[in-house]
Amino acid sequence: MLTVESTEKIDNVEFSVFKEVSSLGHEQVVYCYDKATGLKAIVGIHNTVLGPAIGGTRMWAYKNDQEALNDVLRLSRGMTFKNSIAGINAGGGKAVIIGDGRKDKTEPLLRTFGKFLENLNGKYITAEDVGMTAKDMEFIGMETKNVSGMPEYLGGLGDPSPFTAYGTYLGMKAAAKVAYGSDSLDGKKVSIQGVGSVGELLIEYLKKENCKIYASDFYEDRLKEVAGKYQIKGVGLDEIYDLDVDIYSPCALGATVNDETLKRLKCSIIAGCANNQLADEKAHGDYCTENGIMYAPDFLINCGGVINVYAEFIKTGTEWTQAHTEMIYEKTLDVLKKSSEEKRNAQEVAMEIALKRINDIAKVKATY
Ligand code: NAD
Repeated sequence: MLTVESTEKIDNVEFSVFKEVSSLGHEQVVYCYDKATGLKAIVGIHNTVLGPAIGGTRMWAYKNDQEALNDVLRLSRGMTFKNSIAGINAGGGKAVIIGDGRKDKTEPLLRTFGKFLENLNGKYITAEDVGMTAKDMEFIGMETKNVSGMPEYLGGLGDPSPFTAYGTYLGMKAAAKVAYGSDSLDGKKVSIQGVGSVGELLIEYLKKENCKIYASDFYEDRLKEVAGKYQIKGVGLDEIYDLDVDIYSPCALGATVNDETLKRLKCSIIAGCANNQLADEKAHGDYCTENGIMYAPDFLINCGGVINVYAEFIKTGTEWTQAHTEMIYEKTLDVLKKSSEEKRNAQEVAMEIALKRINDIAKVKATY
């Protein structure tokens, strides 16, 4: 039921929103609110030169709206680079739903979110991210065509996590090749932060290579389950930064490579699936280069999942995804070799490659 709110409330709002939106060069930011279901979501569409913006929806109990906005702005920008370096015809976008994925998720909430996405007319295509599953895509898909990563029983290609895990594993091996001269991970000590969908599957690959694995997770029950299943050592949320390991693999949330943790990390490689691992791409990427830490760019090595989401969007199959995902090994090798030889921030080297493709394709599109 419509009620009349006093306009006084609007007069007192400070409009800082456009400053933030324009600072990272976004095309569009959409706020979705629904009183009946409690839905509060933000869609960030960063760049659509290469095609419709494709990127997952994250459901997380953000401390406040500002934290959610910052996350969606950073994540959607990251998708622009990821989709470009992945070689797919998709722009960068992402969405966040504010809420606890374990407690607040309901069918009406997801379907209402789907209705909002339908209104974007295909400019943004969603899929799974943290706190979301293929089953959730089914509910979203009841209200919109603009969704991928649908369950197999509905003709979709399912959860993209296996391809994200595989690509991350390939990226980690490529980093080992440049750092240690061999891509064998045999006997390497690896700490995995976050044993969710991707973290667990990555552990499976690493176990086969005889790695010694340490893992942490926000949810104690989840950590216990995975640690028991793979016979690995569970560690505390903060303890993970002090471990004496060869490889630190962030597989939870972003910004865990920062001023504080870099002083504590003892690893020679950082390679994980989490998005936006570097709190500050320039400062922390430079720190890694200058201090002998090989940082495998997150948006490059974790792009296997979006390749699968895109495969579903263009109506091809997982064979295509598998073949396309293999390129992560060679591309990571190229980026890290270049970064080592030129003593340059690996994230920046990878971003240059991604940007070049966007700008080259923009020229192709400039004429009819
Ligand atoms: P998920 O929700 O299945 O798992 C994330 C796990 O991290 C959860 O178990 C959570 O409890 C844990 N976690 C959160 N904060 C933590 C902390 N501070 N310390 C330790 N654990 C913590 O998510 P996922 O799909 O496995 O994705 C993991 C990361 O990889 C995310 O950053 C996501 O954006 C990124 N990613 C995922 C995919 C994919 O295909 N799923 C693709 C690309 C990137």
